[in-house]
Amino acid sequence: MLVENFLVQSPNVTYSEESITSTYNYESTKLSRDEKGQWIVTPTSTEYQFRVDRRVPKLGVMLVGLGGNNGTSVMAGILANKHGITWMTKDGLRKPNYWGSLTQAATLRVGNYEGEEVFTPFRSLLPMADPNQFVLGGWDISSLNMAEAMERAKVLDFELQKQLVPYMKDIVPLPGIYDPAFIAANQEERADNCIKGSRQQQVETVRQQIRQFKEDNAVDKVIILWTANTERYAQVAEGLNDTAENLMAAIAADEPEVSPSTLYATAAILEGVPFINGSPQNTFVPGLIELAVAHNVLIGGDDFKSGQTKMKSVLVDFLVGAGLKPTSIVSYNHLGNNDGMNLSAPQTFRSKEISKSNVVDDMVASNSLLYEPGEHPDHCIVIKYIPYVGDSKRAMDEYTSEIFLGGTNTIVMHNTCEDSLLAAPIILDLIILAELLTRIELKKDGEPAFHGFHPVAVLLSYLTKAPLVPQGTPVVNALAKQRAMLENILRACVGLPPENNMMMEFKC
Ligand code: NAD
Repeated sequence: MLVENFLVQSPNVTYSEESITSTYNYESTKLSRDEKGQWIVTPTSTEYQFRVDRRVPKLGVMLVGLGGNNGTSVMAGILANKHGITWMTKDGLRKPNYWGSLTQAATLRVGNYEGEEVFTPFRSLLPMADPNQFVLGGWDISSLNMAEAMERAKVLDFELQKQLVPYMKDIVPLPGIYDPAFIAANQEERADNCIKGSRQQQVETVRQQIRQFKEDNAVDKVIILWTANTERYAQVAEGLNDTAENLMAAIAADEPEVSPSTLYATAAILEGVPFINGSPQNTFVPGLIELAVAHNVLIGGDDFKSGQTKMKSVLVDFLVGAGLKPTSIVSYNHLGNNDGMNLSAPQTFRSKEISKSNVVDDMVASNSLLYEPGEHPDHCIVIKYIPYVGDSKRAMDEYTSEIFLGGTNTIVMHNTCEDSLLAAPIILDLIILAELLTRIELKKDGEPAFHGFHPVAVLLSYLTKAPLVPQGTPVVNALAKQRAMLENILRACVGLPPENNMMMEFKC
């Protein structure tokens, strides 16, 4: 059974016009060792208060890479849903939906009513922005209007495209920051819509564009998300980008190692606008993270987790969690869209390889019954550009595990999917959740005042391949744990207990 909305009745929760306030006891453990070396585990309970602003703002969304496959798919998806556009295919009439979006198309359990399990849409848990109401804009280094860009992307059914053209043909992305040193040389041909000037001037221009967008559309808040081409890694060096001050000085000095994505992110932070990185490169160099923390502006990343890595973060968690020992993971992809063409250059491929390769680390580290210290499965990632398959990406994975008494278990997977139709709903989730996180405040027992979450938005990890976390905090890649973290913290904000799946009601 699905209930669209509900009220929580509890002495721990109060609703006002403006906010929901809840008091929540966080149960955890503390570990120590006694003098004989015996491990002692002590259950702990800490009181938190959460306060969620219920007023959903009119939201402006600015995508960097608006004219790409993901950007056009996001715009097309929103327009199709907003205007209820249906289209015929050889399989019959198609209706728009938001499938693949955690917030829009997934549910969570709220309890049991007369023996029947009751679920609610994820979006009903707390007041969240509605993607149909987004004011969407952004940048692209290619000047094609959005209708032409959608056609170039070759993602959507022709009959749908035809109906969307009138809505998209007059929208042209803002000129963007282009530096051929950071993306593949094969992208040069489309770069005809570029901001001129030094790095300092480019940052100033982007800041101005953000302010103008806000004003023109009368939006209350803006979120910026990078869905432009994967850049190569920027060098991280002392004196260059290791501190906020050095990064700002490097921009002022027009230092060539400051990447376009870091420039956009700097501009966003200086404008107080959250910035999410959907690609694998190290946009968030240490100086930029320091800048975000100093300005208390949300940043999140890196790299959308849409297909192969999502499967990996489920499958390896399952294998290691079941006491089986993955010893070899070989992941091969081929794709034929512009992302694939850009990734055919070794430097940009390297960024993707890095973001895809650490994804099993936490699961391996969680089970030293299976793995010796320092031991790791062989893990190889291959990406090939095959123009013919276009956006329909193929991923082939082979997982070999050692099992009982020297046996071997090999699982082989073949996955075919329009890449951008997996990524677009994730982009919506990242924006919706990032916006929501900026409306949540919390206070730990003993703290004098409410404050926001740490600006590095770990709660977005479910949606990213290489979750950005504050320095010194654990990285969790296992998908189910990432979802539980997000779901349970949002539940706590309305005074609901974490979903512990104990279902004691049915155990006697
Ligand atoms: P795309 O090449 O179709 O789109 C990228 C767009 O960005 C292009 O239109 C390009 O002109 C523009 N661009 C490049 N540099 C720019 C800059 N500096 N400023 C403004 N615009 C710029 O690629 P896509 O398929 O939309 O993917 C976008 C990004 O998302 C890629 O980096 C890709 O690796 C990442 N990603 C995609 C998926 C997926 O499933 N589709 C998953 C994870 C990550």
